[in-house]
Amino acid sequence: MNLNNLFERLQDGDRVALARAITLVESARPEDKAMAAALVRSALQLQRASVRIGITGIPGVGKSTLIDALGSQLTAEGHRVAVLAIDPSSARSGGSILGDKTRMERLAADPNAFVRPSPSGGTLGGVARRTREAMLLCEAAGYDRILIETVGVGQNEAAVDQLTDLNLLLMIGGAGDSLQGIKRGIMEAADLIAINKTDGGNEQRNQRAAMDLRLAIALLPPRESGHHPDVLLCSAASGNGIARLAEALEHMAQRDMQSGHRLQRRQAQSRWWMRTAIEEALIDGFHADARIRALLPGMEQRVQQGEISPFDAAHELLRLYGHAD
Ligand code: GDP
Repeated sequence: MNLNNLFERLQDGDRVALARAITLVESARPEDKAMAAALVRSALQLQRASVRIGITGIPGVGKSTLIDALGSQLTAEGHRVAVLAIDPSSARSGGSILGDKTRMERLAADPNAFVRPSPSGGTLGGVARRTREAMLLCEAAGYDRILIETVGVGQNEAAVDQLTDLNLLLMIGGAGDSLQGIKRGIMEAADLIAINKTDGGNEQRNQRAAMDLRLAIALLPPRESGHHPDVLLCSAASGNGIARLAEALEHMAQRDMQSGHRLQRRQAQSRWWMRTAIEEALIDGFHADARIRALLPGMEQRVQQGEISPFDAAHELLRLYGHAD
């Protein structure tokens, strides 16, 4: 299948073509890279409307159950839903989130949903980049709601925040411990918080957890949208509160479109991806340089021995590389 043919089929919503295009984007083979770049370029030009939603939370909180329920709600409302994931740990741990499609039974069988496991291996930045490109391909294929799952560990949120329009943080209400184990960065990246598993019959405790969270959130600076995240209750398993959650997300997406925040956010993200690509290329170039490779170990030795300051050493190497006076 040639490039034009593949992109045409992808644009028609052909899932096989989409899956193949994403495989090219994820491939490390040099001969696939040019084709992948051309596909992403074509996808970018289409500029199809979409809402990109990050979904995060600690393992076991119910992310995949919620995505199954929320995604089904969205397809029932006429949307086409793509589910992607960022899970840099998957190569190491062997078990990847979304690796097991049976965890999203309804969506996996839904003709209007497309579920793709996290690209495995590599750095967080590399995985995030490949997920971004997969997302653009999904949008070109007509998927207008993109759900990106990530495990809440702090760093992943920062990467997801460079991809999404809105972030949903999933939590479980516990007796007064709802803030425990949640790092500040995770809360700060959330536009909406949902307390899941509210089907256990402990209504009062869940309401209390929501109240505690709202109080804690009020002390944090607002998101760049100018708003503090709202806190909702839901049960991904029973479906209670899922329609309300979908409605809240749609409302926020509309709000940010109208205020111009959505565009600003996407523009800032594009600048960020460019700067990151420059920095990575510079660093890769530096470490690939033959002189630097020859001199770096010796310079490290000298720095360790205190013969030269770390800054003088860095300056010396950069000067050799041609990046300092
Ligand atoms: P993830 O690791 O965050 O993706 O969590 P999963 O979606 O795999 O859910 C972890 C466990 O919690 C599974 O056994 C689910 O069936 C269960 N679970 C998820 N959502 C709910 C819920 O709303 N209520 C209850 N009671 N269990 C749930």
